[in-house]
Amino acid sequence: MLMTVSTTHTPATDLGFLLVKHPDRVHQFEMPAGLAYVMYPEATEQRCTAALLLDIDPHTLSSARHRAKAPESAGLGQFVNDRPYAASSMLASALGRIFRSALRGASKDRPELAATPIPLEIAVPVLRCRGGAELAPRLFDPLGWATSAAPIPLDDDWGDSRYVELRLTGTLRLADALNHLYVLLPVLDDAKHYWIAPDEIDKLIRAGEGWLAGHPERTLITRRFLAHRRALAGTALARLAEERRRLDELDEVADPDTIETPEVEARQPLAVQRRESLLAVLRELGAARVLDLGCGSGALLSDLVRDRRFTEIVGADVSSRSLEIAERRLRLDRLPERQRDRIKLWQTALTYRDDRLRGFDAAVLMEVIEHVDPPRLAALEDAVFGHAAPISVLVTTPNSEYNVHYELEGLRHHDHRFEWTRAEFTAWSTRVAEFYGYTVRLHGIGEQDPETGTPTQFAVFTREVPA
Ligand code: SAH
Repeated sequence: MLMTVSTTHTPATDLGFLLVKHPDRVHQFEMPAGLAYVMYPEATEQRCTAALLLDIDPHTLSSARHRAKAPESAGLGQFVNDRPYAASSMLASALGRIFRSALRGASKDRPELAATPIPLEIAVPVLRCRGGAELAPRLFDPLGWATSAAPIPLDDDWGDSRYVELRLTGTLRLADALNHLYVLLPVLDDAKHYWIAPDEIDKLIRAGEGWLAGHPERTLITRRFLAHRRALAGTALARLAEERRRLDELDEVADPDTIETPEVEARQPLAVQRRESLLAVLRELGAARVLDLGCGSGALLSDLVRDRRFTEIVGADVSSRSLEIAERRLRLDRLPERQRDRIKLWQTALTYRDDRLRGFDAAVLMEVIEHVDPPRLAALEDAVFGHAAPISVLVTTPNSEYNVHYELEGLRHHDHRFEWTRAEFTAWSTRVAEFYGYTVRLHGIGEQDPETGTPTQFAVFTREVPA
């Protein structure tokens, strides 16, 4: 089984950083069904191709089947089948394991590139396509791909086989491309080889984030991915419908005409309470030039813009997609020039020093630090507190102790790398303040529970000495 991913983004060899597999080496991995290899048939500045090759061992496979007591484990079928040759769910699960961080859109070395659409070509030379070759473009085209699925003819004029040669071209984020393949290869193959556990729903929802809920073929995709288990598919489709509703709401919120100035009420949504608390502290500090670091889709920015005392507002984020949404939400193109000049949107990675961020009154990190891999947190501390060094830094993050009040398995958001207890956040804040010469005050945001504290933790750092 073979799949290749090529890019002509220059330098093309950066593909190796995104996949976390060095282009000069052959990488080997043991999979439940055999051995997998990642290698680069070409790796130049102009064009780089990574190949994922899965070498299925039919014996491993049949004994694994035997252990799983699957009905196919009896008879000749276990040795005489197409599994070793045709790309399928096994290739997808190898992809999921071997390129795990790339699928998440994470990249230690090239975070901006991981967030940027780049020219890509994907080739799967032999793919079983149940339902005919025309299904492939129906699945891939709505996602921004130009799809070619050429039926592979049988020998001796027997007509076309059930196999296609799949080629996709498009300009997409690598993470999106890999998630499309992770979901859609097994969907085209439609012969999942392993037992479907309920956590397959989570895998589908996670891999489908941002594209599956709105996909015209989402029902077919969901049913096939979950091996036609009705109950599982029903649950997954309900969750997708929920996501669509949320996106629609977001679009409404993104329209500034419909944003009301929030009334001060006892129980507002936590997100509103957070922004209110941040704004109150920024006003109290007398900050005029403000950074919103990790601004996301710009919810806080639109509050800041409405208050004239904030004379310079910068939203910074590593994700170009978030910045695009923020730009739309703020309707920068419709603002009068003088207003527009107050606000800037910059793409930047907070784990790297950026001179543009120096000299501000205050920097906000609202629900951002928990998205950073713990080993990269020191780099963020250096870039924000050490290099950008604003007079004040305002940080909010979840309080993990409060999670018992939510029906949760794991963390509050799938992209969170950690969530801290109050003791952990206090220890971090105190250490960072001492090291970089700030004093720190700790607060809570949201409803106070006597046992667990508030849902959100809030630290306000203020520099002791002028930089
Ligand atoms: N502050 C926003 C968004 C929070 S989500 C809000 O509260 O609504 C976290 C944001 O941090 C995402 O938009 C993500 O793209 C951004 N982010 C995560 N790691 C980052 C990094 N290393 N550099 C810059 N932005 C980062």
